[in-house]
Amino acid sequence: MDSCIFCKIITKEITAHIIYEDKDSLAFLDIKPHSKGHTVVIPKKHAVTPFDLDEKSFQELLLDVKKTMERLRDVLYPDGFNVGWNQNTAAGQIVPHLHVHIFPRYNGDGGGSMHSIIKNPGKMNVDAVARLFDKKKK
Ligand code: AMP
Ligand code: ZN
Repeated sequence: MDSCIFCKIITKEITAHIIYEDKDSLAFLDIKPHSKGHTVVIPKKHAVTPFDLDEKSFQELLLDVKKTMERLRDVLYPDGFNVGWNQNTAAGQIVPHLHVHIFPRYNGDGGGSMHSIIKNPGKMNVDAVARLFDKKKK
């Protein structure tokens, strides 16, 4: 799917406020920011989720997430970060090109933690979930 919206940002057909770029990745300010400096980091290879990306490209992406966070730290001086991605529609993914969200966080900004994304553990207790892994050894 070479014509996805984020692929068009890579080819510069669509403009974005790019804050970090190298041969593997591009980081740009989210158009509808959830915090000051909300940024998305994308691999230049089109992939919907990490499962579609080769190991080396995923490693490069995570390294570039760190470099982008350093850039945000040096320009905006946040007090913390939340970092992660929405994977598949069940988890809220809208744009079908893998993108790591970086939310710079500021003391007293009123936001929550990762734990506020979901609180619905289902009916199985943790021991029962662990047994599923024992049954299906690698
Ligand atoms: P999601 O797929 O739900 O993880 O989020 C997609 C994110 O991409 C949203 O936060 C959008 O605001 C952001 N977004 C969509 N189009 C653009 C664009 N052209 N430039 C910057 N950010 C965008
Ligand atoms: Zn794409």
